[in-house]
Order: sequence, then structure tokens, then C-alpha cells
Amino acid sequence: MGNAANACHRTSWAESSLPVSFPQKPKPHMTEVLKPWSGTVLTNNVRSKTILGINPPVHDFAWFDLWSKPLGLLYILEFLRSMDNDVYLIDSLYEARTEALSFGRWKVKKEKICKPEVYRNIPRHYYRFGLSPQELEARLAELPKPDYILVTSAMTYWYGGVFETIESAGKVFPEAKIILGGAYAMLCPEHASKSGADYIQTEPFDKFFPAHPAIDMYEKPGYGVVMTSYGCPMSCQYCASKKLFPDFRQRPVEDVIEDIRFQLSVLSTNTTWHNIAFYDDALLLNKSDRFYPLCEAIMREFPRLTLHTPNGLHVSQIDEECAEMLFRTGFHTLRLSLEGVDDYTEYLSDDKTGKSGYEHTMKALKNAGYSDERLETYILVGLPGQNTDDILRSIDYVKSLGGKPKITEFSPIPGTKMFELALKYFPELAYEPLLHNNTIYAPWVSCSIPPKMMQYFKDRANY
Ligand code: SF4
Repeated sequence: MGNAANACHRTSWAESSLPVSFPQKPKPHMTEVLKPWSGTVLTNNVRSKTILGINPPVHDFAWFDLWSKPLGLLYILEFLRSMDNDVYLIDSLYEARTEALSFGRWKVKKEKICKPEVYRNIPRHYYRFGLSPQELEARLAELPKPDYILVTSAMTYWYGGVFETIESAGKVFPEAKIILGGAYAMLCPEHASKSGADYIQTEPFDKFFPAHPAIDMYEKPGYGVVMTSYGCPMSCQYCASKKLFPDFRQRPVEDVIEDIRFQLSVLSTNTTWHNIAFYDDALLLNKSDRFYPLCEAIMREFPRLTLHTPNGLHVSQIDEECAEMLFRTGFHTLRLSLEGVDDYTEYLSDDKTGKSGYEHTMKALKNAGYSDERLETYILVGLPGQNTDDILRSIDYVKSLGGKPKITEFSPIPGTKMFELALKYFPELAYEPLLHNNTIYAPWVSCSIPPKMMQYFKDRANY
């Protein structure tokens, strides 16, 4: 199929009837609206206050609960609680749960909503997952008046749910100071300054971490969420890990064990096996000194755990010993970060895998006891300059070794080298985060992978 990315340029879209409506560059907005916040506002000064944390609903074409909890917000709430503040939580996703899924996850209420102008011709439905503004406002009205409201954010292109949340919060509690934090705020602070929040988090909040997140603020959570390390020492050119967590730090094993112990004490008691998701970007690094002792401690202390790694494991770290350790400790479905087997994708991925490494890893995992369907392997699709033939080769290669390819659609994330490259062709990315959406970027923004081809890749991966 050749390199479709290079064949795609602005003139060709203008002449075709591609559905994305590229926005006009907005007038520069007043910079005084942007009030940077690094965390010290809360950590140094706040005592005996009432503080509400809110996880907003998600506006997107699709959303699934991949053991998704607002971990950063839960850490901050736990810290503030330890400083004699009264803390409350509204998780707009969890509070709209409708149906139990496997491994403690939930299906969440979704409601078709109007597409933003940018997406107006995309031939897909657009939804709000989670509480509607009316439902959120009714929930807010049940709570005592907060002094501070902390609104978190995740994907840059989910800002619609964030803005909606801030509007509702400001309506019900006009005197509360609203602080917007999380990945969107840190990656797009200028854009986030239009949210209506009083402060925008502009720096990583990693000066401290309490012993565990405030998971007990959920009513019977179905799973726990743990980070045994913060950040990642590698430098993949499409990843914002370094921007969000500049320093790679690993927690002592005993701290992680106490964190898990606390979380298990509040998880739903409807099951004898509990689910824990690890959010680490680099769980297996320094495995002999840290990961193996952690596994031994988990097996000793908590023999009935089912463990999940939604963020993907570094393939090159998995040898026979590691594979066996993962299996014995109870890591269930593994997500392996291969990304692609061609030199270009490997180069962008900081050479973290290597074709030979993957083959070895698959053998080791199967020998350890993993069946094919438990070995999901991420293949990254839609990178600027990526060759479509290479994508097919990567899919087929994973299948030939008995793996389950999982297509990950590329999203240009501000602060990464790939974003800077994409920006040269599409300057609108700088001021319209909706264009970062991985569902639309490759098929309809860069048009490097036309929709039918993307579907073909997915079908081929699933066949
Ligand atoms: S290895 Fe993973 S977390 Fe680390 S920089 Fe690469 S993509 Fe990001």
C-alpha cells in the first residue's frame, strides 16, 4: 500500500469532501485568565476547609472502562484529608454506572450529544459518558458548600466534559475556587484557561504522594488502582510521560504492599478474588531489585488477586523468569507494548522492543502458561510518516506468533516530538484539542489512514 502519510497534504483534503471542519485560529485570549498553579496553593495553605474533587464525564465517540479511575485526584484528596480538611468526591463516570462487566469494571450510561462543529461531518455518533449536567448539579446540591473544587482532566480532546463540569460547579457553588488539574490542563494550559476555572495546574503534582489514593471515597469500588512507580525513563517520541512525570521514581515495595492492603480493605466484598490495575508506565524496570520482590510479597500477602496492566508492559523486559513471575503472581490479561516491527516505528519507540525481543517474550509467556487470548499486543497505527505496509507486517507478525494484535490509533499529544511534527502540517492542532482525538486523527485529520483502511487493519487484527 505504500506510504499514505506522505501522500496526504492540505491541498488534497481541501479538494476532497473530508468531514473534519478545521477551525479558524481564535483571537489571542487574555493571558491574565491563565493562573498557573503548581500545587502549593493547596499543599501549604489549606487546612480545615471543605474540598470537593470531581472527575468529569467523557465526551467522545467511544469509551470503555479500562480500569479507569482519576488516580491523581484521589491522591490529592487523600493528602488534603490528612491535613484536616473535609473532602468529597463526585466521579461522573462511576456514579453513572449501569451494568457490571468482567474484572470489577462497569458499563457507564451514555447519551448521544451534539457533535462539536469540528466533528460535524464525521459519520459517527458522539456521546457523553457519565452524568449529565442536570444530574451533576443535583448531586452537587446534596453536598456542603466547598471552599475549593478540584476538577481533574485526562485526554486533551475530552475537554468538553471538563468545561461542562466547571460550568455546573460554578453555577451551584459560585463562591468556591475551582482548580483544574490533570493531563489536559498541563498539556494545553492556554486552552484550559478558557474553561472558567480559577486556577490551572501547569506543573506536575509530584512533590509528594500519600500512602494510598482515597479509593474509600467510592461506594464499593470493583477494583483498586496502584502506581508502583511514577514516570518512565524512556523517550518515545509520541508519549507525554516525561512531561507529566519528569522524574522516574519507584516506590519501596513495602509502601506498595501497604497501599494494596488498604485498597483491598475497601473493595467490594461480592467476590473472593479482587482486581487491581497497575497504572505504571514502566512496571518492569529494575525488575530483579524491585518487581520480583514486589511479586513475592504480593503472593505471600494476597494470594487471591487478579492483576491487570492496562498501560502495556515493556516487551524487552520479559524473559523466562519474568514471564513465570507474572503468571504466578496473578497478572491476567497482559498488554504488551510492541508498537511495530519496522525500523521507523522502533526508532520512534526508543528501540524499546526489537523484533527478536518480542519473539523471545512470546515464547517465554506461553511457556509460563499464558494462552494466546491473554496476550494482547499494542500496534501503533497512524504515526506521521508511518508506512502502511509496515503496519500490516506488524499485525501479521504478532498473529504468526500467537499474539492478539490490538490496534492503538495514534493521537498527537502536545509536548511530544510527534506533535511538533504533526503541527507543521496541521497548525490547528495547536488551538483545537478536539483534533487530537485518536479516533479521527489518522482517518480524518491527517488522512494518513483512510477510514476503510483503518477498519481493514482492525479486522485483520481480530480475524
Ligand atoms: S516506554 Fe511507554 S511510557 Fe515510556 S516513554 Fe515510551 S510509550 Fe511512554
